[in-house]
Amino acid sequence: MAEFVGAIDQGTTSTRFMIFDHGGNEVGRHQLEHEQILPQAGWVEHNPVEIIERTNAVCQTALNKTKLSSDDLVGLGITNQRETTVVWDRKTGRPLYNAIVWQDTRTDRIATALDRDGRGDVIRRKAGLPPATYFSGGKIQWILENVDGARAAAERGDALFGNTDTWVIWNLTGGVNGGVHVTDVTNASRTMLMNLETLDWDDELLGFFGVPRSMLPEIKPSSLTEGYGTTRAGSLGGEVLITGDLGDQQAATVGQVCFAPGEAKNTYGTGNFMLLNTGNELVRSENGLLSTVCYKFGDEPVVYALEGSIAVTGSAVQWLRDQLGIISGASQSESLARQVEDNGGVYFVPAFSGLFAPYWRSDARGAIVGLSRFNTNAHLARATLEAICYQSRDVADAMSADSGVPLETLKVDGGVTANELCMQIQADVLGVPVSRPVVAETTALGAAYAAGLAVGFWSSTDELRENWNEDRRWEPHWSEEQRQDGYGRWKKAVERTLDWVD
Ligand code: ADP
Repeated sequence: MAEFVGAIDQGTTSTRFMIFDHGGNEVGRHQLEHEQILPQAGWVEHNPVEIIERTNAVCQTALNKTKLSSDDLVGLGITNQRETTVVWDRKTGRPLYNAIVWQDTRTDRIATALDRDGRGDVIRRKAGLPPATYFSGGKIQWILENVDGARAAAERGDALFGNTDTWVIWNLTGGVNGGVHVTDVTNASRTMLMNLETLDWDDELLGFFGVPRSMLPEIKPSSLTEGYGTTRAGSLGGEVLITGDLGDQQAATVGQVCFAPGEAKNTYGTGNFMLLNTGNELVRSENGLLSTVCYKFGDEPVVYALEGSIAVTGSAVQWLRDQLGIISGASQSESLARQVEDNGGVYFVPAFSGLFAPYWRSDARGAIVGLSRFNTNAHLARATLEAICYQSRDVADAMSADSGVPLETLKVDGGVTANELCMQIQADVLGVPVSRPVVAETTALGAAYAAGLAVGFWSSTDELRENWNEDRRWEPHWSEEQRQDGYGRWKKAVERTLDWVD
């Protein structure tokens, strides 16, 4: 008898498959990293074929480990790194180019041009997004303009676009043999191509990027009783109805049961993403946040969110490991930073992909300031953790200013929240408690919730609320003076990173 829900989380650094029971507890999982392809400064790519192989492998291994089969799954949820752009040929199933990842800045000229002739304001109004390299629209345009044969394939109707949810669903539901070409409203809201009010692709926006409608997937709700399609290929070993699909940050918001207006969460992964549920009302930010779709469950009205997206947080820790080699694993950032009492005057602004919220400056690049001879690797590790927390403070302040509601507690999740020191610094920098739930994998959990709600495995969002339990809480210890001094210096350091790229 089927009594579990499966969730594929196709993330930026890895893909995982997780299985949850009715209590929202993890029953099993498997996870595999994929290659980060960095062909030149500012470019970040993934191989879409590797992503599908990893997706198949994690599903198979997790089922084997738990001795479960596809028959045990009532439904399947998909969640994914958002904005990352795949274009492939519907006849061969082959990608026309590597996936261009959300952090990739090669489209900075395309993005800046949008603000020169007024198109930027149309995008802000219709899509709720500031023109930026971050979103999919410019990435599709780049592929159409720079990859041999791409424009012709698009015009023939052979080229398909998708974020990785769409790519995974198309492949799992049969690929060249009848794969379903769909996405959900949350993913579509990150493309600069969807109108936030009609929830449909917008011809004027498509025109800005030269994207033919025939490339685009059908936009569906995030939770769908009849399902988007049934798995026919891949390694689930049988037919499972796919009933949930939402972008990773929206999924984490659902996993953190932020179902009421005013509820917010902050996810610490490759980047950081704070989302505030604003209910059925589309709120427009005056402080550098995005308006986006939070979720849409079946026929219920759409729920919107305000979002503060930060490009580089956990990936700055990866940079310490991979580029500088001063730590051998991410968790060592904590032991190294603990060797010192404080940052020793060092501030690190990891503006590797420009600065996202609330600054939106694609001309910014990273800086380490305040160095003296006294400083060591340990100070740099500490400054890296502080950068994660100060960037979150920038966004939290913007959110309070937009909503008029001061933050009382911050609900957190994601890979970096394993770092106890970082979470303590976060409480200190914000001056409010930080709270982490028992199930830290809220992204996969949220996708499972969307899938399970669709098929009645869970009856309502109220039932899901009962599954949320606190695991740990960090209380602020810094004095108000320490907090103000640190934040003031952070702001000065941010100034130093601006106007770096022409
Ligand atoms: P994503 O879903 O974006 O792939 P995850 O939630 O899996 O991200 O988190 C992975 C990120 O968390 C990596 O960037 C890694 O550097 C960082 N990370 C993992 N463990 C720690 C730790 N103990 N301290 C600091 N950073 C960590």
